[in-house]
Amino acid sequence: TDKPIKYRRILLKLSGEALMGSMDYGIDPEVIGRLAREIRDVQQAGVEVGVVIGGGNIFRGAGLAEAGMDRVTGDHMGMLATVMNALAMQDALEKLGVEVRTTSAIKINEVCEDFIRRRAIRHFEKGRVVLFAAGTGNPFFTTDSAAALRAVEIGADLLLKATKVDGVYDADPKKKKDARRYEKLSYDEVIARNLQVMDTAAIALCRDYGMPLRIYDMTRPGDLMRILKGQAIGTLVHA
Ligand code: UDP
Repeated sequence: TDKPIKYRRILLKLSGEALMGSMDYGIDPEVIGRLAREIRDVQQAGVEVGVVIGGGNIFRGAGLAEAGMDRVTGDHMGMLATVMNALAMQDALEKLGVEVRTTSAIKINEVCEDFIRRRAIRHFEKGRVVLFAAGTGNPFFTTDSAAALRAVEIGADLLLKATKVDGVYDADPKKKKDARRYEKLSYDEVIARNLQVMDTAAIALCRDYGMPLRIYDMTRPGDLMRILKGQAIGTLVHA
């Protein structure tokens, strides 16, 4: 546990669903509080932390479109949902005394600042956690793609995808008892085998710019710190 941290700057992707905890909608204050403490701990250990938060706990464009709504309008609602989640995380972090800024890919200046890359990097240099809200700002994308994009843009050393499963399996571990977890995968293996890691656009971006990606179980307290100290937890996707 006294090992040094191996990473200088990371991009953490939290799905909206992760924030629901055991609820079926919205944000579980206990879950967001615990995630905020984990972020604080790694930040205090000297890691610069950027976070992309999804919105699936509130709205998803695809779901709204299925119910009959215009897809682009649905995606706009989904992106605004991520802003709400980011504000909740901003609040949880501030309660812990962490300096944090929410930046949005859609202009909502009364609520939070715009995403401007140089400004975001300045926040990191000043020791602030930066939350990246509103995905990429474009419909038909996902917050996974936004996470890959921001990771590359800010020059992160590692992209972490926090999920409820402890990595990527060759079958659904809930359905198949002998499902096996991959320790490592190449980007091309993920795409060729159609493994549900992140959407293909996100994986392709990581591949093209050599962004290592680790999928891990966010429900296990302390794993984030262990990963940053070099432990091979979850699944690593790399070149
Ligand atoms: N979204 C979008 N463009 C983006 C990112 C997100 O239109 O760049 C919309 C899309 O409708 C998506 C919703 O926002 O369904 C919420 O994001 P996502 O589904 O990725 O959230 P998560 O699954 O991580 O909770």
